[in-house]
Amino acid sequence: MQVLEREFSADSVSYLLLDANSGVLLASHWENSGKPIPLGSLVKPFTALAYAGAHDFRYPIYECRGQANGCWQVRPHGKLDIVSAISVSCNSYFRSLAESVTSEQLLPVTRTFDLESPEANFTGPNLIGLGERWKISPVRMARAYLELYRRRDQPGVQEILAGMLQSAQRGTGAAVGHALKHSEALVKTGTAPCTHAPHAPGDGFVVALAPAQAPEIVLMVRVHGVAGAKAAETAGRMLSRMEE
Ligand SMILES: [Zn+2]
Repeated sequence: MQVLEREFSADSVSYLLLDANSGVLLASHWENSGKPIPLGSLVKPFTALAYAGAHDFRYPIYECRGQANGCWQVRPHGKLDIVSAISVSCNSYFRSLAESVTSEQLLPVTRTFDLESPEANFTGPNLIGLGERWKISPVRMARAYLELYRRRDQPGVQEILAGMLQSAQRGTGAAVGHALKHSEALVKTGTAPCTHAPHAPGDGFVVALAPAQAPEIVLMVRVHGVAGAKAAETAGRMLSRMEE
């Protein structure tokens, strides 16, 4: 914990560190971590679970045709299942998935995971972390990912955790995988409008559970002014320093 305070105290980096067994906050360097803010693609797993609950816990296959198709990536991701879609955080896949998710389906999920609900006038894109109509407090989000892991044996959850493992191996969270020498991690990244001073166009977010096989910690990181995949480099450095 001291290593984080010593080496990652810059204003551009915010972090929360939780004990994965107890959920207790071990370290916090995040101003107003209880205040709801947009967290970008970190919401995708919960929208996916709302979809799954209404569809017999079967996830669809969609084809991403790139930016023309509403993805953040110019080059198409191609045909994706839920595991790959979580791994590369494909907006095109989740746009399609979110089209059929209603607030009646989402509410039980936000309640179960103790997350704030989106505003009443939310749209499909808000459910995949675009815009600012679904704000969640960072500390609740970190705990929701821990709860997600605890529910690993429940229907629809295994696929999401497999996507987070793949994210750290070769998806948007690959920088975490590269940084860890002795273990793997479960990672989800996100990019959202910046909500703190000084203003930047966007902030990168990462939630990482490590080690992947039996998580001991949950690390949530926000890096000012970068995308989620870039923020994963910072999260990777933090986790590798704690691994030593
Ligand atoms: Zn895509």
